[in-house]
Amino acid sequence: MKVRILGCSGGIGDSGGRPLRTTAMLVDDDILIDCGTGAGDLTIVELARIDHVFLTHSHFDHIACLPMLIDSVGELRHRPLTVHATGATLEALRAHVFNWAIWPDFLQIPSPAHPALQFDAIEVGTVVSLGERRITALPVRHTVPAVAFQLASAHASLVFSGDTGPSPELWTAVNRIDDLRYLLIETSYTEPERRLAAASGHLCPSMLAMELAQLKRSAEVFITHLKPTQPDQIMAEIGVRVGSVQARRLQPQQVFEL
Ligand SMILES: [Zn+2]
Ligand SMILES: [Zn+2]
Repeated sequence: MKVRILGCSGGIGDSGGRPLRTTAMLVDDDILIDCGTGAGDLTIVELARIDHVFLTHSHFDHIACLPMLIDSVGELRHRPLTVHATGATLEALRAHVFNWAIWPDFLQIPSPAHPALQFDAIEVGTVVSLGERRITALPVRHTVPAVAFQLASAHASLVFSGDTGPSPELWTAVNRIDDLRYLLIETSYTEPERRLAAASGHLCPSMLAMELAQLKRSAEVFITHLKPTQPDQIMAEIGVRVGSVQARRLQPQQVFEL
């Protein structure tokens, strides 16, 4: 299993010649984990190969490219694209995105019998097996219903926490993963923004330290979803606050082999 990071910023903009993209990662050539603006850099051919999109939650930075992905490559595809997400996330998409007002209802077109899009409702603990690849939803707390994902090959696991507030149940689940190799976790805000982080279901460096103190497995830790105005400050504060674990900044186009 090959996981390529397409977007890992908490926002957009050009940062010193580096275009920032929001959350999306490509698994092999047919699965997306979240569908933020990073997915928009894939070629038309690559977009047409996507059969599965797993969504951590309904927030816009994680779904922004999903409506246009379906519309862009519909003529090249002969089977529906499946969105795997919790019932709450799917209901939000149905009510607020694919509602004919914001975007056409691709669950109904080109025809209800052969739609471009189909929904697969999952919940915490659900395992979706696609060949030898297993994708499991894990519990996480955020301001809307959200999940983390464990991506497992026959050899190793990667956990992506998605948007994450303090989540003791996540660590109970992660500590059960014998073959954990990589942990991708967010830190959206700086330390002075701690109250904002808490109110918005995100982490700041000292909150990250409290989360990682509950991790009982060794894993390579990468930080994602840094808000674009102060990423260097966030990473510097993490270096000070998180002593026990070396946490590196997740990079666009970084590849993980499992
Ligand atoms: Zn969110
Ligand atoms: Zn987000």
